[in-house]
Amino acid sequence: MFSSRWCRRGLSAALLGGALAAGAAETPQLAFPVACAPDRDCWIQNYVDVEPGAGVRDYACGAMTYDGHKGVDIRVADRSRLASGVEARAAAPGKVIGARDGMPDHGAGRAGAQPGRECGNGVRLEHGEGWTTQYCHLKRGSVRVRRGESVQAGAPLGAIGLSGLTEFPHLHFQLEKDGRAVDPFRGACGAGGEPLWRADVLAALPYMALRFFNSGFASGRPEHRRVSAGEYSASAPDRGAPVLTFWFELAGVAPGDRVRYSLRGPDGALLAEREETIAQPQAAAFRYLGRRRPGEAWPPGTYVGEASAERAGEQMIRQSVKREVLMR
Ligand SMILES: [Zn+2]
Repeated sequence: MFSSRWCRRGLSAALLGGALAAGAAETPQLAFPVACAPDRDCWIQNYVDVEPGAGVRDYACGAMTYDGHKGVDIRVADRSRLASGVEARAAAPGKVIGARDGMPDHGAGRAGAQPGRECGNGVRLEHGEGWTTQYCHLKRGSVRVRRGESVQAGAPLGAIGLSGLTEFPHLHFQLEKDGRAVDPFRGACGAGGEPLWRADVLAALPYMALRFFNSGFASGRPEHRRVSAGEYSASAPDRGAPVLTFWFELAGVAPGDRVRYSLRGPDGALLAEREETIAQPQAAAFRYLGRRRPGEAWPPGTYVGEASAERAGEQMIRQSVKREVLMR
């Protein structure tokens, strides 16, 4: 087991005759700040934008971020997951220096945000040596800590919600040193140096670009609003559905990415197929395709929706998703 703590990195004090080297700093060893399994039931939607000017770049030289983004957005698939409470947890031991609750969970983006309160319901912790962490967009009524309180790494702070400047269910986690945002991943295109996540956390956080994160079927044209609410996961289309559609969401698309998707019937017959080349970078792309019901009812059997995405280049990325629905 790894213990979460702050460790002293840099030149060993012992090598310098016991005197601490000037500039050797306490650096964090961060625990994952959400009670979820990365890459299974949550993932990183946006990394820190390490490009100082206009334009975007994440630590791995990709575009999984947006201009000026200072934190790491850890998201869950849809709003229905929030009902049971997805805990935000302290990434390191520290002291609560700020806590806010009482703001509504609107998830309406800029339209619902109050200037100066973009974080919504949130918590800020101080860890010593100028390091702080911030946890934003928590659910109203969920904040469990008070200013002045000490917390251990992993301590529950509140639950993911939709307060402040947010449009999708996620925790905005922000690390700062002396008031300046720091990317805990560092990396090739970032500030360099050792990542600030604990080794076991880092191992569970492969760079997440161009990934399918949500998919399903709908009776009729799927609405993104309902996808976000998790409504299609609750009920499968039946044989009387006037239109059968397969939909999916794909994170981190970039210009030039090739996306193919199809819907097949029980006998493997192709019902619909599409292929496109992405023109605009997008943090999360929503796509669907479908077919009108042939005759009175859909033939019984298994219907298959499939999608694949490909990025050419030095490090080729290929991802795919396959979903099935049985109609009786
Ligand atoms: Zn964010």
